[in-house]
Amino acid sequence: MRYIRQTCKRHPNAGPFLATCSGCAQELHDIQERNRALAAAPKALAIVGTPDAEILDATWVRGALIVASHQPDAHIPYCIDAFRLPAPDETGPEQEDPRAPGEWVLLYQYGDWMPDSVPEMTADATTYLRELFPLRALAA
Ligand SMILES: [Zn+2]
Repeated sequence: MRYIRQTCKRHPNAGPFLATCSGCAQELHDIQERNRALAAAPKALAIVGTPDAEILDATWVRGALIVASHQPDAHIPYCIDAFRLPAPDETGPEQEDPRAPGEWVLLYQYGDWMPDSVPEMTADATTYLRELFPLRALAA
């Protein structure tokens, strides 16, 4: 079998490839991660009491989940919540008060009255999570 090197029309900067364009692979990965975040969002929102909120967006930052949500009738209708899953050592039986595996833990919560504030609140939450989970610590 002979491969012909080709270049993706949609990602010319990704360079020539044999089987899969790295740009398309990254795009597919991003879509799958976003779908995974959207699927996790209602269960995470349940711990802050808003499992039925309209989910505006959901994304992962350093393994934590950020959810932007909207509740038209709430006192503060636009909310940004960030969650993490427990580390393995938090769920061990040796813990005095162990967390359940898969139990979301609230890290960050902010809200506003205006829809325009959502992008800025999301950016603030992202900054907070990057400071909370520096790459150096994750690599260690
Ligand atoms: Zn491509």
